[in-house]
Amino acid sequence: MAKVPLSEQMEIQGVRIGVPRRAFLKSRRFCRFCRERVEFIDYKDLELLAQWVTERGRIPPRRINGNCARHQRQLATAIKRARIMGILPFVVQ
Ligand SMILES: [Zn+2]
Repeated sequence: MAKVPLSEQMEIQGVRIGVPRRAFLKSRRFCRFCRERVEFIDYKDLELLAQWVTERGRIPPRRINGNCARHQRQLATAIKRARIMGILPFVVQ
């Protein structure tokens, strides 16, 4: 294993941390529900909810789907209600 000078190591780390961070901020500029001025997420709106769950039926975390806290919470509640009503699956095998 070759020894890398400490200054170079820091530079490498800086690049590795810096790049995804910028991409991450760019991709999650705005919550989609805020942009569309959605005040209430309806649990009966299957078409909408289906866009926000994975193919396995899971709710992705906020950092993935880019929603704000308020709308992510509303969305999660709506999806959970839809699951209980039998509109959405809990798990897709
Ligand atoms: Zn929002």
